[in-house]
Amino acid sequence: MTTDDIPHGLHHVTAIAGDPQRNADFYTSVLGLRLVKRTVNFDAPQVHHLYYGDGAGRPSTLLTFFPWPGVRPGRQGAGLTTSTAFGIPPESLGWWRTRLAGLGVDADAPVTRDGEESLTLRDPDGLVVELVAAPGDHRSGWDGSGSVPAEHAVRGLHAVTLSEEQAEPTQRMLTELGLSHAGDDGARSRFTAPGPAATTVDVVGGVSGQGLQAGGTVHHIAFRVADRAAQERWRAELVERGLDVTAVLDRQYFTSIYFREPGGVLFEIATDGPGFDVDEPLLELGRTLRLPPWLEPDRATIEVNLPPVTVGG
Ligand code: ZN
Repeated sequence: MTTDDIPHGLHHVTAIAGDPQRNADFYTSVLGLRLVKRTVNFDAPQVHHLYYGDGAGRPSTLLTFFPWPGVRPGRQGAGLTTSTAFGIPPESLGWWRTRLAGLGVDADAPVTRDGEESLTLRDPDGLVVELVAAPGDHRSGWDGSGSVPAEHAVRGLHAVTLSEEQAEPTQRMLTELGLSHAGDDGARSRFTAPGPAATTVDVVGGVSGQGLQAGGTVHHIAFRVADRAAQERWRAELVERGLDVTAVLDRQYFTSIYFREPGGVLFEIATDGPGFDVDEPLLELGRTLRLPPWLEPDRATIEVNLPPVTVGG
């Protein structure tokens, strides 16, 4: 392993939702993200896999969902990623607060943590989302949402929070992945990756009660590496350490390996490429259902069983 192999931040976060239309309305119309891919869960093609991100669906900007209509609600607790934070321009925090109130979205009063001011809100399924004033975030976000002006656009992922009964084994694994311990604040410890954005992973220890992974909870978090070679090196390294790691899986827009950290959160290491324009032009991202070649023969059956999802703009 070389320092170049250290994950340069988060690639994406994947969560579980209920109704796909309600999910799409919230992330495109309220938060102003772009639906950059409309596909199915490759492991369960009867449900959608919806990807939201910046204009091109760049790694570090992506929040994705498996929407299961009628899914039972999950429960926050130990062994889950209990918050997903996005970066926004620092001067936009007040604008977002006013906007969310105007749309009837409940948001907690702003808090300051480790010098960062943030708003915490919940999506329609109860997923905890934070908007963090991030001064050093130079990503552009999606400027074509029609609902959020470019100057206030969500820049992309900023951080995640892992809740654990025992923090120490999780902290050790993050360190083994190459993240650096950046400080502690009570039961919360902060780890950072060496990338340009979406580099923060917070671990909160001492959480009692196991979480229940279902609607409104995070399914897994993915770290980004440059290419397949780095991913293969990580796979060999993790196997050697005795972890149960999947084979390299083709996710069409990147390749992936998965393994669990000691507290139970599912981790993924995903490649930056080939990217979301591999099967449709950038201008048309997210408009029609895309399937990987191996599911294309089943398109008619898949399409007839998927609920319709309409995205304006
Ligand atoms: Zn993933």
